[in-house]
Amino acid sequence: EYVQACTVTLRDGTVLPSLGQGTWHMGDDSGLRQQEIEALRTGLDCGMTVIDTAEMYGGGKAEELVGEAVKGRREEAFLVSKVLPNNAGGKKLEEACEGSLSRLGVDQLDLYLLHWRGSIPLKETVRDMEKLKADGKIKRWGVSNLDVRDMKELLSLEHGNNAVCDQVLYHLASRGIEFDLMPWMKEQQMPVIAYCPLDQGGGRTLGESRTLQEIAERRSMTPLQIALAWTIQSGMVLSIPKTSNPAHVRENAGAASVTLANEELEMLDRAFPKPQTKQPLDIV
Ligand code: NDP
Repeated sequence: EYVQACTVTLRDGTVLPSLGQGTWHMGDDSGLRQQEIEALRTGLDCGMTVIDTAEMYGGGKAEELVGEAVKGRREEAFLVSKVLPNNAGGKKLEEACEGSLSRLGVDQLDLYLLHWRGSIPLKETVRDMEKLKADGKIKRWGVSNLDVRDMKELLSLEHGNNAVCDQVLYHLASRGIEFDLMPWMKEQQMPVIAYCPLDQGGGRTLGESRTLQEIAERRSMTPLQIALAWTIQSGMVLSIPKTSNPAHVRENAGAASVTLANEELEMLDRAFPKPQTKQPLDIV
C-alpha cells in the first residue's frame, strides 16, 4: 500500500495527500481514452487520490472520463469539480451540480469549487453552495482564482468561512502568491490547491533550468519531480499535476516523498526568486 508522506489538512479536519491529479484536456482525444483511464487509476494506486475536474473541461468530457476511471473505486477517490461563474447561483448551480454528478456517475462531490469569480454575487454562490451541502450533493465547497481581496470579502460573508480552499496557479516560475495570498491562507488554515504545478509541462523555464537539473541529478530524480516536490514543501499546498501518461503518473507520484534540503531550497530561490512586491494573481 502506497501512502503519501506529505499531506494537507482542510479546515474541517480532512487530511488529504499533497499530490493529486488534474484532468484539463483529458477526454479531448478519444484515441487516448484507455490510456487516460489507466493513468488516473495508476494515480489512485499511487495514492494520488484527489482528482480535479470541471464542467468546463471538454464540455463535460473530462468528468465522464473521470467517472469511468473511478468506477468501482469511488471510495478511494476524493472528487473535485468546478462550476462555471455563470452557473454559480440559484437553479443554475443546482443543475450544474446535477450535471457534474451524473457525468461522474456519483451521488456526491467531495469538493465543489467556484471556477473563477464572475458577475453572480459571491453571497448568492455561498448561500447556494451551502444548500447543495445541506442536500448532500456536495461534501464541502471552495473557490478558485480568487486573490486576497476577494478571499477577504468571501470570508466576511455569512457562511463564507465554510470555504475550505482556494485553487490558484502556482509553480516555481510563478511564485506571486507567496507575497500575500499564501501567508493569509496559512493564517486562515486554508490550504492552497496548486494548478499548473509543472508550468503546463515544463516548457523552457522549468525544463531547461540548470538548477533543477543539478538537484535532480544529485538525487537521481527528474527535474520535473523536483519542481513538483517544491510546490508541496510548505505543507499547505496540494498540487494537481495532469498527465495522460501512466509512466508520468508514477514519476510524479515519486515527488511526494522528496524533502528538499535548505541548501536546495536556497538554490531554487536564487534561480526562481520569491516575489518582493504584490503581483497580480497569475491565471491561465
Ligand atoms: P500541469 O502543470 O499539470 O502540466 C500538464 C502538462 O505536463 C501536460 O502536458 C502533461 O503531459 C505534462 N506532464 C505531466 N507530468 C509530466 C511528466 N512527469 N513528465 C513530462 N511531462 C509531464 O498543467 P495543467 O494546466 O494541466 O494544470 C494541472 C491541473 O490543474 C489541470 O489539469 C486542472 O485540473 C487544474 N487547473 C485548474 C485551473 C483553474 O482555473 N482552477 C486552471 C488550469 C488548470 P502528458 O499528459 O503528456 O504527461
